[in-house]
Amino acid sequence: MDIEIREMRDNYARFVISDASPQFANSLRRVLISDVPKMAIHNVEFHLGPIMGEDGKEFESVTPLFDEIIAHRLGLVPLPTYLDEFNFRSECTCKGEGCPSCTVMYSLNKKGPSTVYSGDLEPLGSDKFRVKDEFIPIVRLGANQALLVYATAELGTGKQHAKFQAVQAPGYRYYPTISFNYDKLDVEKFDTSCCPVRILEKKQGKIAVTDVEKCTLCGACVDAAPKGAVTVVGDETKFVFQFETDSSISASAALAKASELLEKKSAEIAKQVDSL
Ligand SMILES: [Zn+2]
Repeated sequence: MDIEIREMRDNYARFVISDASPQFANSLRRVLISDVPKMAIHNVEFHLGPIMGEDGKEFESVTPLFDEIIAHRLGLVPLPTYLDEFNFRSECTCKGEGCPSCTVMYSLNKKGPSTVYSGDLEPLGSDKFRVKDEFIPIVRLGANQALLVYATAELGTGKQHAKFQAVQAPGYRYYPTISFNYDKLDVEKFDTSCCPVRILEKKQGKIAVTDVEKCTLCGACVDAAPKGAVTVVGDETKFVFQFETDSSISASAALAKASELLEKKSAEIAKQVDSL
């Protein structure tokens, strides 16, 4: 099996896998969705009772939303995740009590009238845990309202809850091959704009494909041409794969982790089969 990277940005990856099977491509997709871990807020403590401002003004610890909704919204905020530095809380040497190897603490202290944003989460400890996407609205506070919370983040996987899913919209399609039978195709009459991704061009009396990897195998060109003049086939051993991350981990880190997990799972199956 071979991987050729076509595009690798901070939170986006596009690559071509060859010499593989649809089952393999699908396992990679599933591991990316449900097994690549990330940090998310899992515990939120709300301060109850009056909150004092710096000038001695008293605020009420009430907001227009229920605490549960605020806790849920905080859970969905993408947090910077350092996979090499953290253990799952349940597997940590602290036996799940919570320590710097498995949890990150945040505080949030905001007074109204104002809007509470994800960027108001203050990491207790290193600044590298500061939320990168700062303007996700959490709740709007009225005059005399304030919010004071302590939140604990820990590692989890998409299998547990969607808030622990670092990879979004992973997908793949068969590698396309488009061929033209010029005995049946009248190039002059053929309308290249039939292709919704605009990859067909007329060139020197023939049809040229500008970027075959953009082809979605929709078959619009096949329908627009006389029967048998254009064929589009997908290669079942080669795939164009792409996915995004929510910026908690980079796309390259997600791909590396997914490959590692897939290898581990396959080795486990092979071991069990051997012992039969
Ligand atoms: Zn721990």
